[in-house]
Amino acid sequence: MYYGTISHEILHVLGIKHQQARYDRDDYLNDANGIEILDETNSDNFGSPYDYGSVMHYGRFDTTQKLYDQTIGHRVGPSFIDIAMINQRYKCFCKTPTVTCLNGGYPNPNDCDSCICQHGYGSRTCGEIDPGTEDESEVINVESDECQTFEKSLGTDNNIRYNYYKKTWYHFKAPPGKKVQFIFLKGSDADQSESDGCDDNGIEVKITKSKFNRTGFVFCGNNNKFISDSNDNIKKFTSTNNLAMLQLFTRKNKIDVIVKYRFVDSESDEVPSSCAPFNEGDCKNIDTDAKCKGWAADPDENCEADPDYMSENCAKTCGTC
Ligand SMILES: [Zn+2]
Repeated sequence: MYYGTISHEILHVLGIKHQQARYDRDDYLNDANGIEILDETNSDNFGSPYDYGSVMHYGRFDTTQKLYDQTIGHRVGPSFIDIAMINQRYKCFCKTPTVTCLNGGYPNPNDCDSCICQHGYGSRTCGEIDPGTEDESEVINVESDECQTFEKSLGTDNNIRYNYYKKTWYHFKAPPGKKVQFIFLKGSDADQSESDGCDDNGIEVKITKSKFNRTGFVFCGNNNKFISDSNDNIKKFTSTNNLAMLQLFTRKNKIDVIVKYRFVDSESDEVPSSCAPFNEGDCKNIDTDAKCKGWAADPDENCEADPDYMSENCAKTCGTC
């Protein structure tokens, strides 16, 4: 029994319904017809926004905002909004806080001299980056409109599922007035398929400052909505302000990220060659690495069984380039 499941059930006991039962859920979910929905007149969201990362979903749903497909339905743990709601519900506030909280945090009712921070921020006042569990969190100054490459891993490929998560945060900070742009080249090749959620490990991307109180986009398993797999298919993720965040988390195996980053004035700025996912002559798969790996392990479809297709589309996996 994991922390996320336990917190889900405890929040029920304390009176919190499923997130997908909110009266405004049809703005966020496509396939919730027939599933319990609350009435606006006898339920209260305490002013909190819909959070795809709420631990109070009872599984995955088809989201109206497709980039949240792997965010929804996880059991990692309660979100900032989940905890804020339960504090509101029971009026757990500091009457005389002795701390001023920054970046959307609020005084912790269990210790009115410290703050509960929006995920991604830490320290007593939420004025700094969340140090994570490994003390490896890092602020990266984004100083160029040419792409730099950021490459990190967290965890160990030993197939053990721990009952706690390792977490590391990265803040990408552009000069004032600029925006941060990400182009992802790799997001884990752990044994998680795109259709699964990211309960074991994943990458969270926060690029919208007004939504920093909510869970960002989460992806794992080289999700092709995020990964740019060719120079003709570059997927850009541009922040609304000069701060963007990434979080790596894992309780099982290694999560890898390779992302190109730079600053831009606007999302539509032309993409320079430094941001192209591949250089000419790079050995690469045309299909995703995860798909090629799957086929290569299948006796009917592997590199020898289907050499024409595989050498063309999975050249890297088959070692034919
Ligand atoms: Zn439930």
